[in-house]
Amino acid sequence: MTIQHFLTAKRDGRRHSPGDLRWFVRELVAGRVADYQAAAWLTAAFLNGLDEDETTELTLAMAESSEQPDLGSLPRPLVDKHSTGGVGDSVSIILLPLLAACGLTVVKMSGRGLGFTGGTLDKLGAIPGFRTGLSPEEMTEIARSVGCALAGQSANLAPADKILYALRDATETVDSVPLIAASVMSKKLAAGADVIVLDVKCGSGAFTPDPERARELASAMVAIGERAGRRMKALITDMSQPLAPAVGNALEVRAAINELKTGCKGRLGRVTRALAQAAAEAAGTEFDVGRAIDSGLALEKMREWIAAQGGDARVVDEPDALLPRAPVIKKVGSPADGFVGSFQTAAIGETARGLGAGRRRKEDEIDPAVGLEVHLQIGDRVSAGRPVFTIHAQTESAASNAAAELPALVSISDNAVSPPEIILEGG
Ligand code: URA
Repeated sequence: MTIQHFLTAKRDGRRHSPGDLRWFVRELVAGRVADYQAAAWLTAAFLNGLDEDETTELTLAMAESSEQPDLGSLPRPLVDKHSTGGVGDSVSIILLPLLAACGLTVVKMSGRGLGFTGGTLDKLGAIPGFRTGLSPEEMTEIARSVGCALAGQSANLAPADKILYALRDATETVDSVPLIAASVMSKKLAAGADVIVLDVKCGSGAFTPDPERARELASAMVAIGERAGRRMKALITDMSQPLAPAVGNALEVRAAINELKTGCKGRLGRVTRALAQAAAEAAGTEFDVGRAIDSGLALEKMREWIAAQGGDARVVDEPDALLPRAPVIKKVGSPADGFVGSFQTAAIGETARGLGAGRRRKEDEIDPAVGLEVHLQIGDRVSAGRPVFTIHAQTESAASNAAAELPALVSISDNAVSPPEIILEGG
């Protein structure tokens, strides 16, 4: 095989054999494929597609290129979760201790967020003392003793994906179902879980706003996982409005704690329950997810987990006193009487990022204290002037900029509006 033969095959719309894809990934990781050659292949794959066999082979080869954590001593089955991301998505902060309270073992490795707000690592980083830079031994020990652990991805997790993702980002070839599915699943397979639950978001704040595409991505990822021998469940959930009533790192931690304390009845809690149920079913546990929430077991597990990762567990009981707070608070009222019709969710995420809640480049620092509270949901009745958002900012001018943007990002309808379903498929 030569790189020229490999590139010609996909350029001309032919299928790659499993051996050829494995060869490509090996050469790529060994540094023997030039960036322009890999970029040419990505463009050909973006345009001509990869079928299910090719996508699975690419994923397996990328996963095998990875350093794999030694989780051999942990109780099985091990559970992992992936979300395609959205605005106010703080599900993992509740889901991990909830599943641990159900007797399951969860090990999750996350990358740093390049989204509107930080990723789960950044959100948890808002808790004083919480450490995500765990060694593999620490991660395993915490998962064994508490039932859940969350750590930053090691630099060597799926190195082939790292190379390809950077090139996709630079060549406008991110938005391809087989390439996304292979990228996500290579990391999930390398991370070693037996049960993988996927939360594929759909709506104005999602990576895949269109339901058909969300479905396509979900089934591509499930197919790869099942062919690799993992137990898979995928839910498609609504992202047409911020999931938590808050967007921003400390604000989302506070919202997640509050959701668990109040029985997981809000939108954030319902998505978390559905994912927990899906994971419990796939793992074959008898434990009742509702009982773990209502009995306070999950909340107690959250305290235990935070303490095990070096965080101040008192944050669960005193979030307002212990989480970072921004000095400037400004409310934004509804421009009219009526019903909340829709949110421009991605743009709301951008406003939160503009306040400093998210990164534009990998090296940017996140401000854990800033962000937005979102007081209303689609379908709520509202009178003019009633707060829709509360801005948490570092400066008056940052707050004023956000206050100028936000009124256009919510539409108020004269007529009653039905709230969207929260679990669209798979629940
Ligand atoms: N997240 C990933 O890890 N990979 C993609 O391709 C897209 C989102």
